[in-house]
Amino acid sequence: MGDEMGDNFISLEEQEEYRTMTAMRFKTEKEGFLFYNRYAKEKGFSVRKNYIRRDPITAAVTHRQYQCSREGHRKEVYMEAANRSREPKALTRCGCNALFEIKLDKKKGDWFVVKYVAKHNHPLAKSDEVAFLRSHRTISNAQKANILELKEVGLRQHQVMDVMERHHSGFDATGFVSRDLYNYFTRLRKKHILGGDAERVIKYFQWRQKHDMEFFFEYETDEAGRLKRLFWSDPQSRIDYDAFGDVVVFDSTYRVNRYNLPFILFVGVNHHGSTVIFGCAIVADEKVATYEWILKQFLDCMYQKHPRGLITDGDNAMHRAIAAVMPDSEHRLCTWHIEQNMARHLRPDMLSDFRALVHAPYDHEEFERKWVEFKVKHKGCEDNQWLARMYNLRKKWATAYTKGLFFLGMKSNQRSESLNSKLHRYLDRKMSLVLLVEYYEHCLSRMRYREADLDCKASQSIPFTSNDASLTEKDAARIFAPAVFKKLKLVIAKSMDWEVIDCVEEDNLVKYVISMKGDSEMLQILNCTYMESTMKSINCTCRKMDRECLPCEHMVAIMHHLKLDAIPEACIVRRWTIKAKHMFPSDRYGEVYTWSDQMERYRRLRSMGTEVFFKCSVSKETTLMVMEMLEKLDLETDECETNNSDLTLCGHVLAQSSRTDIESHDKVIDAYIMLIKDMQCESPRENGTAFLESTAHCQAWKTNGEQIGTRNKQYQDKRAKVTAKYLQHDMIFLPLNRNSTHWYVAVLNGAKEKIQILDSMRMDKSYYDKDKDLNNTIKGIEKFIQYARLEDEVENKWKNTKITNWPFCPMKVPQQSDSWSCGLHTLKFIQHWNGKELSPEFNEMDTTTTFKHKVAANLINSTMNEVIEVQQDIKRLVTEANEGN
Ligand SMILES: [Zn+2]
Ligand SMILES: [Zn+2]
Repeated sequence: MGDEMGDNFISLEEQEEYRTMTAMRFKTEKEGFLFYNRYAKEKGFSVRKNYIRRDPITAAVTHRQYQCSREGHRKEVYMEAANRSREPKALTRCGCNALFEIKLDKKKGDWFVVKYVAKHNHPLAKSDEVAFLRSHRTISNAQKANILELKEVGLRQHQVMDVMERHHSGFDATGFVSRDLYNYFTRLRKKHILGGDAERVIKYFQWRQKHDMEFFFEYETDEAGRLKRLFWSDPQSRIDYDAFGDVVVFDSTYRVNRYNLPFILFVGVNHHGSTVIFGCAIVADEKVATYEWILKQFLDCMYQKHPRGLITDGDNAMHRAIAAVMPDSEHRLCTWHIEQNMARHLRPDMLSDFRALVHAPYDHEEFERKWVEFKVKHKGCEDNQWLARMYNLRKKWATAYTKGLFFLGMKSNQRSESLNSKLHRYLDRKMSLVLLVEYYEHCLSRMRYREADLDCKASQSIPFTSNDASLTEKDAARIFAPAVFKKLKLVIAKSMDWEVIDCVEEDNLVKYVISMKGDSEMLQILNCTYMESTMKSINCTCRKMDRECLPCEHMVAIMHHLKLDAIPEACIVRRWTIKAKHMFPSDRYGEVYTWSDQMERYRRLRSMGTEVFFKCSVSKETTLMVMEMLEKLDLETDECETNNSDLTLCGHVLAQSSRTDIESHDKVIDAYIMLIKDMQCESPRENGTAFLESTAHCQAWKTNGEQIGTRNKQYQDKRAKVTAKYLQHDMIFLPLNRNSTHWYVAVLNGAKEKIQILDSMRMDKSYYDKDKDLNNTIKGIEKFIQYARLEDEVENKWKNTKITNWPFCPMKVPQQSDSWSCGLHTLKFIQHWNGKELSPEFNEMDTTTTFKHKVAANLINSTMNEVIEVQQDIKRLVTEANEGN
């Protein structure tokens, strides 16, 4: 029957739909589109934005048409299939007339429907196909933010897609498909490269250096401005080198594929036997001069501390650079690398014999003899260039020659270590430098996380030793890192095979001869020096201690012989103990990157939301309730969201500090200044009365100084009143901020006619003379002082009010030794400067610990604190704690 009625039949249902659709009114054009697109999703077609008309004067959109994406036909010119490299895309257009048209009602200010065609001339997509239609696929800003996070931790594209689909319960609800994700990443990469990949990296490093004086980085460019060499190392890497820089692996086998640039890592091993990274470099070539440059940067960075042992892969240019720059370091080739090359350069039947040459502990003559045998046995190998070169380098790889050298028992570049190999796998991909640095830092933070975890275990527990374990073993468990203790346990077990057979004493030197039980031919000789019966040094002919910094079984045998209840200091090298890093406070924060403010806020909301949502998902009712609330909130905040889909919105930012959140400090500083004012009641200090200014006012002075003119009369009067107060004091304390990164104090000293600078990172006088912000601040104040003096006859203690003529005098005050405590120093200076020097109380408490806590405690307990609940809570806690005792 339907066929008979043909196209003209309209069902009741369709009539009803037509009425509803045409009666719709929308607040905005966007709302109209969203409505039609939602409708299209339900029906099974995709929407194309088609027709647009604008107001001739305001250029605002007044008229808009949306069509089914299958409208029209492909243009004739595109229908020629010939001369095409790619197969033409399938035809999607079929002249469908379905559309929806809306127009702005200028009187009412909303939008109404002018035209609506419901009918399509093609079958519609089924509900499980709709997700693939173009207009129903978008990656929202929130999704982009999540995607970037996942990408950063090293997930591949398809993994990112899997996670996103899981989050949304399936591909049909995700809102985009893997093709869109792929396109998004392609655009992202292009953006990185267009923005100057290398420049971005350098800018980032410059920014880090500015914010953290301990961040080291150097680079060189060629005449065309292209990056030639780059070396960097962050503060924690430098600390690690100080603790574990005795052996360094110079690993140049990584490649940044996009540019085929060598990516060079300086790697070491920590007290847990895991990899630490000391620094890295990216270079444009592999010439001797380039390697020399890298090594020199490395030494500059590490305060010229040379490593004792150096392990490298087999590059000739590098050997020459090492000989020139680090001539005293013992150098060997990485066995992992030799294994790789063996497979490439030798016949399979030669491999096991060659392996013996590499690893067997022959003496020199034995090795030479074995080498000749090898050549005789494997005919035809005389022509092998690689073998010839390896022979020349034999002292750098054959155990026969390297066994006496200092490598802590390391032979290879530790590539097998899981994190390092993860880095390696990932780096083989075609990545931009920006991504490389991001990923490198991510890996670094994971390594540090692991170390902190192991440190925690080591400090909070002691490895198990059985009741009958020797005192030496029990002591070793307390002293050495657990991984090292495991090794030592074997050594201790082996020591039982030895016995002391002779002992010669001579002054402070004792010579022990020990032999293997049941084999009196096996001898070792140990020399010990004593001072007042304490062992001061111990040497063994096996020299294991010299090579690996660990006591050998022979030393342990002596300890047992002497019935020592503790391991002598002479047998303990700090680098393997749990105290290896105690000299150096670590800085192993979890997140290397700083994300945009919005991203940080989003994360806060998200982690809170996740908890709440999970709780609410327990029942249908609470779920619905939350959904309703969120929908309402979504509508209310719709206008807040900008259309700015810029990456800085959802990604991390390069130009922001993570650890010194300077912007939020000013509120704390101002609050504390109020407290000091309150406590000191303006009672005069030793050299006169002090006026403490707030950071907010200082900011205003700076702006006043920048600008010409003094704005309106009302403003003038207000500011002049402030300066009038200044003139009644001997000293004005100004908390100032340098480049938004550093706090310091300037004191206008009226009696001395000087501007005293109290700065925990003191600069030369010439620096302050040139500092624009500082000069503008002074200029701003002077402007209004003159104004105040003209207006009224104000009381004035200052003889000379032309303060721009007063010299800047940086005062000798304690300096900060970290990168973050400038704000605390500033507060302490404000509290204790008396116009001439810091009062004795200044040194009574440590700035970064006690004083820091005192600031917080004072702020909370102050009578000026308006959040009384917190105070009450604390008082209650204290009372409870006291009663409990
Ligand atoms: Zn259609
Ligand atoms: Zn020994």
